[in-house]
Amino acid sequence: MNACTSSAPPRPAEAPPADPLETKIAQFAPVEISVDLAALPPNEQHTLAALIAASRLIDGLFLEQVWAGNPSMLTALAADHSPAGQAQLHYFLINKGPWDRLDHNAPFVTGAAGAVLVPKPPQANFYPADASKEEVETWVDGLKGNELAHAQAVGFFTVIRRGADGKLIAVPYSTEYQNTLAQAAKYLRDAAALTAQPTLKKFLTTRADAFLSNDYYASDIAWMELDASIEPTIGPYETYEDEWFGYKAAFESFITVRDDAETQKLAAFSQELQGLEDALPIDPGYRNPKLGAFAPIRVVNVAFTAGDGNRGVQTAAFNLPNDDRVIKEKGSKRVMLKNVQRAKFDKVLTPIAGVALAAGDRANVSFDAFFTHILMHELMHGLGPHQVRGDNQAVRLALKDTYSAIEEAKADVSGLWALQQLADKGKVSAGIAQTMYTTFLASAFRSIRFGVSEAHGKGIALQLNYLLDHGAVTVNGDGTFAVVPAKIKETVAALTRDLMTLEAEGNYSGAQDLLKTMVVVRPQVQAVLDKLKNVPVDIEPRFVTAEGLAKK
Ligand code: ZN
Repeated sequence: MNACTSSAPPRPAEAPPADPLETKIAQFAPVEISVDLAALPPNEQHTLAALIAASRLIDGLFLEQVWAGNPSMLTALAADHSPAGQAQLHYFLINKGPWDRLDHNAPFVTGAAGAVLVPKPPQANFYPADASKEEVETWVDGLKGNELAHAQAVGFFTVIRRGADGKLIAVPYSTEYQNTLAQAAKYLRDAAALTAQPTLKKFLTTRADAFLSNDYYASDIAWMELDASIEPTIGPYETYEDEWFGYKAAFESFITVRDDAETQKLAAFSQELQGLEDALPIDPGYRNPKLGAFAPIRVVNVAFTAGDGNRGVQTAAFNLPNDDRVIKEKGSKRVMLKNVQRAKFDKVLTPIAGVALAAGDRANVSFDAFFTHILMHELMHGLGPHQVRGDNQAVRLALKDTYSAIEEAKADVSGLWALQQLADKGKVSAGIAQTMYTTFLASAFRSIRFGVSEAHGKGIALQLNYLLDHGAVTVNGDGTFAVVPAKIKETVAALTRDLMTLEAEGNYSGAQDLLKTMVVVRPQVQAVLDKLKNVPVDIEPRFVTAEGLAKK
């Protein structure tokens, strides 16, 4: 799942100027995404090329899953060479369909192609267009006596169709998408034959098998065991597109190359985690004397993405797999897409800093600090109290609906605290310690822009308001924001203590009170947000390294 760094839908676009569609397109800043292949020998570069060829099929599968009318609408739009038609095609490709994912799925295709347009179906093309949610529910309930039939009906990898008798049936993806999956499997086998890396070969052959057998278990296990310079994620995964039940997995692909420098940094941080836990600014009794195992994290650079992994707001990180059987056996893995984060930093965060910060502070916004803090955020989810003290209850259960926002804020702010500790010990560069607070402040505006209705936005609003109230962040006369160096360290430690103490004590009413008073967009913050109208919301990637490989 995209639980951590993915983005919720932002606020709807403001009042439309002359050409509304061009304005919508401009919300996505075009950016070239490249990846350094110098460390990959020729055979591995050919492996990568074959994986990209397989991934080019994924877009078509995803389009078909979103709406049955998508393939023919794409053909119609591609045939329309008028400027209006080309703009519609452009935005269709960004959204993977004729509905604006940034604007509550408002339809934007007009003219002859738009004549067939319906509202975006919440059931996507996973269920029959003429079925109602109630009909499917009743049918699924009726299968409860038959374990296998019920599992297939609610399974990730089947679509629901009508049989010749009009009754609902579950059809495996391997049947529904037979031709395309057979082609994709062939490319995966080509790639498997080219690579010299055993765990990659294993994943690719088992995933090719899964495309044909519809049994993804062995290949999910192989994906968890991947240890290779190329890190591909390709198949049906996330279930957000099934807005009826969240049962059905949409096809996506992330073809990536491991980032060795960041991987080493992560390994170095891992050595420090127990020391950080032992020094947490909380009651010593709330510290964990022996940290458990951590879920694996991979830092990679994207060569190509497709399908559900390349629509609307771009995925910057993900946790997979989603299959509980695999999670039980192998846990899950977090994959962080560094060059995508870099592109968002350059095209969105830097212009936001230009508005939100005073000129003198903008030089303190650094990608190295931004990305290192994201890594530390992920690690800090593993630190601090997870069980309520004197009780065996999980913090998650004790804090109920407040948990996600408190936990996200905790990971952010304690990530700053931890990096300061490491900088003080010379384990991370002084440059990161000097820039991370201002970088975090700028990124807070990027997050709040997406709204304060979900956990990340809530957590950020809580932190920003806490820092303001404690004098660690100040508002200049011209409305820009600034970090107060004399106050920031102690305030970050204080908020870390407050949040972790709420967690340790399972203090639900305390968490509710904190969120109630702190999760607000204050007028000074709103004034900055109002000035961001012309700053892009996200990026539109062009995969130049992949294009180069395709030409070879
Ligand atoms: Zn998180």
